[in-house]
Amino acid sequence: MSPSAYDVVIVGAGIVGAACADEFARRGMRVAVVDRDVAEGATAAGMGHIVVMDDSEAQFALTRYSQQLWQALRPELPDDAEYEPCGTIWVAADEAEMAEVQRKHRYCGERGVPTTVLDAQRLPQLEPNLRDGLAGGLLVAEDAVLIAPCAARFLIERAQKHGAEVRLGASVVQMGQGQVQLSDGFEIAGKIIVNAAGAWAPELTGGVEIKKRKGHLVITDRYPGFLRHQLVELGYLKSAHSIARDSVAFNVQPRRTGQILIGSSRQYGAEHKDVDEEILEHMLARAREYMPALGTMAAVHTRTGFRAATPDKLPLIGPWPGDTTVFLATGHEGLGITTSLATARILVDQITGEKSEIPIEPYWPSRAGKEFSRM
Ligand SMILES: Cc1cc2nc3c(=O)[nH]c(=O)nc-3n(C[C@H](O)[C@H](O)[C@H](O)COP(=O)(O)OP(=O)(O)OC[C@H]3O[C@@H](n4cnc5c(N)ncnc54)[C@H](O)[C@@H]3O)c2cc1C
Repeated sequence: MSPSAYDVVIVGAGIVGAACADEFARRGMRVAVVDRDVAEGATAAGMGHIVVMDDSEAQFALTRYSQQLWQALRPELPDDAEYEPCGTIWVAADEAEMAEVQRKHRYCGERGVPTTVLDAQRLPQLEPNLRDGLAGGLLVAEDAVLIAPCAARFLIERAQKHGAEVRLGASVVQMGQGQVQLSDGFEIAGKIIVNAAGAWAPELTGGVEIKKRKGHLVITDRYPGFLRHQLVELGYLKSAHSIARDSVAFNVQPRRTGQILIGSSRQYGAEHKDVDEEILEHMLARAREYMPALGTMAAVHTRTGFRAATPDKLPLIGPWPGDTTVFLATGHEGLGITTSLATARILVDQITGEKSEIPIEPYWPSRAGKEFSRM
């Protein structure tokens, strides 16, 4: 990598940095990407659920737009990205949760997302291994799953084909004023510097208020046919919104191999990557409540990662008010795999002055000053 100026230097080659590199490079810009260790990022730990969420209009717009970008990209994705349009079923335990099913069904229908309400008889026909006595659910057929590190690798490689230069194993110690400085003293100049360092973004751009939110994921041995859809308890929304230190929810994903990913946990204030046995057991107990046979399965691997959480649950995409050369693409919490492609599109739109498909203002970092005081 030469020290000459690039149009854009991206710090972070997780799924968000990779998508940005691809988008900038394909639009003809000279791009450099730097990452110290992609295996340590959230992308290597995430579940790979491409999911439409409706916590707010802005969250819906970004997730839906990005999901459609993934659908368009699907024919080009490599086989090992294992994109599977398996759909999500939001599982309702009782009548109160069925009311939420109906609300989601109306909300999605009004915005062109096809969903199907499942009653107590239909749910076990689609997922026979769920426990008896559940009230029903909502099938969101266009949701999908993929293996995020493979998708990120594909995006980086495509960026390289369009001239991007990639420097892995390089730690950034400082960025700003059009410069990125590496730990070995090497400096890279760019007209624009993108902070896509996920949960570590505040270490490089002071004042970015992101908290690390740790998650655990268990990967089982192969049980082909056991699970057909991504299943998420409706209580997941309470867990994701919770400001309590620790929370867990039933969230399971089928993989092409027959393996099952079991999530999910959320912890603030847990800075170490080690597996926390207590929260892990709590998470697995919740999973067994919904699918008792999970308790008989062999786990082959457990991984942890850090989500980058903002106070208003929306990512930070756009110019950083403190430095005209710095742009942010971070703060995606539990949705960065879903929203990476849309993040890249709207970030590059802002820089090239093109009109975006969705309103971009809700994601501007400058909104944050008002919100962060509540964190
Ligand atoms: C358990 C779990 C399950 C999840 N499930 C899903 C899901 O199903 N669907 C979904 O959409 N999202 C999910 N997420 C969230 C998703 O994984 C993240 O939002 C997404 O991966 C964020 O991508 P990123 O590129 O911003 O960050 P990361 O993947 O963390 O990448 C940041 C990169 O920056 C690099 N970096 C940081 N500091 C420096 C530095 N100083 N110098 C050089 N490089 C640096 C790191 O090495 C890293 O590679 C999940 C997350 C977790 C933890």
